[in-house]
Amino acid sequence: MPSPLPDAGWHLENSYASLPRIFHEPSQPEPVRRPAIAVFNHALASSLGLNPTILDSPEGAAIFAGNALPPGSRPLAQAYAGHQFGHFTFLGDGRAILLGEQIDPDGRRWDVQLKGSGPTRFSRRGDGRAALGPMLREFLISEAMHALGIPTTRSLAVTTTAESVRRESLLPGAVLTRIAASHIRVGTFEWAAASGDLDAASALVTYTLARHFPDTPVTDSPALALLNAVAARQASLIAQWQLVGFIHGVMNTDNMALSGETIDYGPCAFMDHYDPATVFSSIDHHGRYAYQNQPPIAHWNLTRFAEALLPLIHPDESSAIALAQDALRQFPESRDRLFYQGLRAKLGLVPDLPGDRALADDFLAWMHASRADFTNSFAALSNGHLPENTDNDVFQSWHQRWQQRLAAQSIPLDQSLALMRQHNPAVIPRNHKVEAALTAATAGDLAPFHLLLAIVTNPFNHGHIPDEFSQPGPANCSYQTFCGT
Ligand code: AMP
Ligand code: MG
Repeated sequence: MPSPLPDAGWHLENSYASLPRIFHEPSQPEPVRRPAIAVFNHALASSLGLNPTILDSPEGAAIFAGNALPPGSRPLAQAYAGHQFGHFTFLGDGRAILLGEQIDPDGRRWDVQLKGSGPTRFSRRGDGRAALGPMLREFLISEAMHALGIPTTRSLAVTTTAESVRRESLLPGAVLTRIAASHIRVGTFEWAAASGDLDAASALVTYTLARHFPDTPVTDSPALALLNAVAARQASLIAQWQLVGFIHGVMNTDNMALSGETIDYGPCAFMDHYDPATVFSSIDHHGRYAYQNQPPIAHWNLTRFAEALLPLIHPDESSAIALAQDALRQFPESRDRLFYQGLRAKLGLVPDLPGDRALADDFLAWMHASRADFTNSFAALSNGHLPENTDNDVFQSWHQRWQQRLAAQSIPLDQSLALMRQHNPAVIPRNHKVEAALTAATAGDLAPFHLLLAIVTNPFNHGHIPDEFSQPGPANCSYQTFCGT
């Protein structure tokens, strides 16, 4: 392997490798032919303390494709299990490798992971590889989510290879470099529980608390403290997804990160017209992961998390169950509270008044009944306009109530609208634009991708969004996503 770059800014540690052996497997990325950087995130590199000029180069491509290791890397594949569509399975990184943890200039720790870097012990029948389209999709949507202010893993680079991957057809191969607060999942704890190794599970509790919840007060049950802290972050995350119409699409327990970041952008998509039953994923036949099911599914996943923690919560099983149930009971309530708090901001309502929930609910009901576009309806109100299709009594009477409510609050109208514009994006990654950009990129033209990326990473710019980026696509009722591998 070529010698590492001296001044690229790497400052890698490998704390995960110090966890008990059951959690990781040393694993080398498998080199590819002719790696080349297709997209590089300069701003993210800088914030990590990495030198973008040095790394957006053939030398950087070698690292981000897995042909060379950055200094200090001890590459490994993580072991985890998970409930996929309700069924327990042993999984693990089948096509990902953790290079190490970059310590940024503020001392924060970030996983640097290659996705699509070749087979590992956990690959089962998979090839360990990834196709360019899905990796660019993750880059685009994760960066859009970050710009929307929603906790998410980030994308540092997509590197193309001269190798094809066989899916339904032959597709150009690529490797994504993913940055995450960590890749510890609910499924990591399910793995520990299934192994029956209580000491290992306990070490993982200590590690996760220290890494993600360092301010948690010390109690006699760290596992219970962890359950409470993780549930609170998930309540916030799910509320934030729903406030922008985001549908994750594959909320298996292995895709729920304990850091509270959105992770795994396979079949996710944003809804256009507001319909709580919206599902995009081609494999989600029963709508398990539909827009409106995201809170109960997150609760279900947290229940699996609690089960994995039970022996650590309390030595007596029935006491442990009672404590876990108390913790879990708070989840739906806190998701509701945060969701309505967000809706109030989206409607410019300050402070909280008794009729506000009903006012927000009635707006959602109107959008549902009239198939109004979720993003554009809120954006129109924020800009002092009427949404489309408002020539009806239901909307008119709602609008009157809303205006009276705004007039009665202490801040002037223009301030309320300014608040709304901070909470209502002018643009989201529209499904047809995403597809068009990925199709062009797969055929070798990255220009539409870069244009779309620039638009969706500046979502609160209510200035001039070209119509083609803000309008829902024509095919939008039949839009389907695939677990892009
Ligand atoms: P995901 O659907 O991306 O959350 O992945 C679920 C599991 O399948 C994880 O254990 C992945 O590592 C594994 N997996 C997905 N695609 C591949 C692939 N092409 N080769 C090997 N393992 C894969
Ligand atoms: Mg996954």
